[in-house]
Amino acid sequence: MFDSRRIMSFPEPVSSSGSSQWKDNFSQMSPLMASREAVVEASRCLFCFDKPCMLACPARIDVPGFMQQIRSGNLQGSARIILEANILGESCAQLCPAKALCEGACVMHKTGEQPIQIARLQRYAVKDVLDRKIGVLHAGRPNGKWVACIGSGPASLACAAELAKWGYAVSIFDRNELPGGNPTYNIPSYKISASNPLREVELLRQLGVDFRLNIEVGRDISFAELEEQFDAIFVGIGLGDTSSLELSGEDLRGVHGAKQFVRQTKMGRPHKASVGRRVAVIGAGNTAMGVLVALKRLGAETTHLIYRRSKEEMPAFKHEYEFAKEHGVIFHWEAQPVRILGKNGIVTGLQCVRTRPGEPDSRGRREPQLIPNSEFTLDVDMVIGAVGQKPATEFLRAVPGVQLRKDGTIITNEYQTGNEKYFAGGDCAHGAKLVVDAVASGKAAARSLDAWLGNPRGIPEEFGSPASWTPLSAPPQAPEHPAI
Ligand SMILES: Cc1cc2nc3c(=O)[nH]c(=O)nc-3n(C[C@H](O)[C@H](O)[C@H](O)COP(=O)(O)OP(=O)(O)OC[C@H]3O[C@@H](n4cnc5c(N)ncnc54)[C@H](O)[C@@H]3O)c2cc1C
Ligand code: SF4
Repeated sequence: MFDSRRIMSFPEPVSSSGSSQWKDNFSQMSPLMASREAVVEASRCLFCFDKPCMLACPARIDVPGFMQQIRSGNLQGSARIILEANILGESCAQLCPAKALCEGACVMHKTGEQPIQIARLQRYAVKDVLDRKIGVLHAGRPNGKWVACIGSGPASLACAAELAKWGYAVSIFDRNELPGGNPTYNIPSYKISASNPLREVELLRQLGVDFRLNIEVGRDISFAELEEQFDAIFVGIGLGDTSSLELSGEDLRGVHGAKQFVRQTKMGRPHKASVGRRVAVIGAGNTAMGVLVALKRLGAETTHLIYRRSKEEMPAFKHEYEFAKEHGVIFHWEAQPVRILGKNGIVTGLQCVRTRPGEPDSRGRREPQLIPNSEFTLDVDMVIGAVGQKPATEFLRAVPGVQLRKDGTIITNEYQTGNEKYFAGGDCAHGAKLVVDAVASGKAAARSLDAWLGNPRGIPEEFGSPASWTPLSAPPQAPEHPAI
């Protein structure tokens, strides 16, 4: 049985109270908008009838709607539109690759003009409400049902916000000391500080959502205990740690996984942490680019990126690559690390071999081949692996009916797992994506869960027509209202 006395207020993250030098290094990338600039920018919006920006936003924020409110000086109205659709409206304004989403769909592109700065305006609108702790959302009338969310990342927060607005009691369990998942712990501080997501968590507390932290489900509380107390359970546990590099020398001091390294910079004392002078980062995704920028800002002198495929094949967004390039990163395309070198248990170098594309496989993808006698060694004192993360879902096998794919992600049908009481969303169900995708998935899972519990609501068009939506199986009887 979990102990409700463990409900706690959130301590101040260390990273928000570091040295001034550290704070300078991690100042936000895009400056905040002043009110006059915001009104002028929002007034450029053409209020398109078909709202391509809204359709390009996975959380379906009514962008023209909130532009209109900013233009007329109604900041609270604007924030309400944003937060109703996306409880992480401020975090997403900082983390979304907006040029590839809402801003990429702006019709201004057609006339060769700059797109409306949607993400910056979104942050401007929400910041004011969060700064002043104004409650713009309202909890629904209690409906007597109680839902547990496992994990307090974006997927669970979005799911909980929807449910609370519909009158559900919601308890969120997380093994961490602070809520928020990756945005709090694992996304570099120059993008989002650890204290930012906690402002949005406060909105959930205003909606009556209850946070039970430092509790690992499956270890500190059993699934049977959850099932006994809750009407339904949402699983939003994200992914595990960064995958192993599977190289000899990986156990040397100075070798880290990207996720664990960023966590240390956000939760430890980064201005005192030992950051290598010459660092190699393996991988070419957004995480690798983010880590390289963070390293430079933490004082690394030389930073190398090693990727076994060509530059054209890198998975990172172009703007993330350009930003890393601006920070002086040295890129080694078509090179594969083969061994981490060390002396006295400490990293001294990274041995690599050049590659070239092999013959195309059945899917047309060319597996890199090592070029004989092309070895070279990078003189580095730190190596960081950024080669992706795998779901840590094995412990869910203890739940009868819950099924996993080969890659460990949870199999769902309309967000419901093979055990009808369990729903799942976010990275643990769809694999590594974006914060805004986890929000969209948490919201959709809330609708599916709500339908199963007997209060069918409209499902967004992409998940099926509301009129044709039927619960996946018979809803259980509504119990007494839980005492929380
Ligand atoms: C280094 C890095 C950089 C990124 N940069 C960006 C970016 O710039 N923009 C962007 O949009 N996305 C970015 N992402 C991706 C984004 O963080 C994820 O897509 C998003 O956080 C997924 O949300 P989630 O709720 O599914 O999982 P998570 O955010 O991972 O949250 C899962 C939560 O579940 C908890 N948990 C796990 N198991 C248990 C258990 N047994 N009991 C209790 N609690 C448990 C964890 O402690 C965690 O708090 C980045 C990811 C990483 C790793
Ligand atoms: S949540 Fe992201 S994609 Fe959606 S409107 Fe805001 S910045 Fe654009």
